[in-house]
Amino acid sequence: MLGCVMPRRLGQHFLRGAFVDRLLDVVDPQPDEVFFEIGPGAGALTAPLAESASRVVAIEIDAGLARRVAATAPPNVEIVQGDALKMDLRSLVPEDSRVVGNLPYYVSSPLLRRILDLRDRVRDAHVMLQDEVARRIASPPGSRSYGILSVLYALWADVDVPLRFPPEAFRPPPRVSSALLRARFRDEPRADVPDLESFERFLRQAFARRRRTLENNLQDSYPKLKDYLRFLNLEGSRRAETLGVVEFAALWRALKAG
Ligand code: SAM
Repeated sequence: MLGCVMPRRLGQHFLRGAFVDRLLDVVDPQPDEVFFEIGPGAGALTAPLAESASRVVAIEIDAGLARRVAATAPPNVEIVQGDALKMDLRSLVPEDSRVVGNLPYYVSSPLLRRILDLRDRVRDAHVMLQDEVARRIASPPGSRSYGILSVLYALWADVDVPLRFPPEAFRPPPRVSSALLRARFRDEPRADVPDLESFERFLRQAFARRRRTLENNLQDSYPKLKDYLRFLNLEGSRRAETLGVVEFAALWRALKAG
């Protein structure tokens, strides 16, 4: 059996048939749609996607698996062998496509960040993640797991977690439960953030020490912080994890302009 002889390196946990169906019921691929898949593995999702949709482009790091899945794939599937963390995804991802992936958990956060950079090319993303990571991205302000990626996804997408899978859904089973994160990208962001990289750097400062207050985390970098907090009616004693994306964006714009 495939999964039992595969090494666990590269986050290789292969989805079992019944769970493939449940995942694809949520994705609901349509005949005119194009998919971009990250980590097709042995093609558990690739093959049924290719049957239902018009085209699938997939990137797989493991040369053996990439060759194998390419050899049996129908003509509307293009397998690219490479590292999804390093390759220029924008040149691979077809315009107006949809992202799907049972992501390798050891790199799921940087991959999620890269997917966000594709937001103008893709309609949505359905990615299987470690349950805890999926919850973190989808969690609202005020919860302990709310963090930088939650804010960035809240800025650009409507996110939810429509499915949870136990470890037995995969071969071999991972140590943790998994969940499907669904991100539907918005045409317009929830707040005006013209420079995402700069905003991200600011968020990193704000979240630098989670137990500290905003004032403690930001004061050294922004000497006029207190004035702007007062102007925006934000308590400096709040922690970063309590601010929504609109509040973060307003504070960042004020500090940048000041
Ligand atoms: N989609 C298949 C399934 O559901 O059965 C396989 C999913 S498995 C969790 C993750 C897949 O991602 C593996 O095939 C692994 O080789 C591949 N992978 C790991 N790191 C990768 C990377 N950096 N870029 C592209 N693929 C990667």
